Amino acid sequence: MIPKKVRIGYLDYDIEEYQDDEFEGDYSPQSQRIRIRTSGRSSAFIANTVLHEVMHGVYYHSSLKSPNSSDSDTETEENVVNGMSNMLSQVFRDNPVLIRYLLKNLK
Ligand SMILES: [Zn+2]
Repeated sequence: MIPKKVRIGYLDYDIEEYQDDEFEGDYSPQSQRIRIRTSGRSSAFIANTVLHEVMHGVYYHSSLKSPNSSDSDTETEENVVNGMSNMLSQVFRDNPVLIRYLLKNLK
């Protein structure tokens, strides 16, 4: 089950399931909401999409996103977020000892 809430930076976000033919998910700091398409998707695909949208939040809250983003900036953000979330999904999946270590020590 997808968590209903996530905290990124100074904001708490609702995570909602939705159906859309165009987007797998979206992230809105203004609405403090992340939406995830779930219909017809595997649990691994959905989990990666959740991480992808969280990474958009990390990108936003890290001030990497320009307030007046050009198309090129948006493409750069998507490439960074997609690459990082895909690889983090693999690192998390294949290294449960590392994840337990991080959870225990990042308190
Ligand atoms: Zn994206």
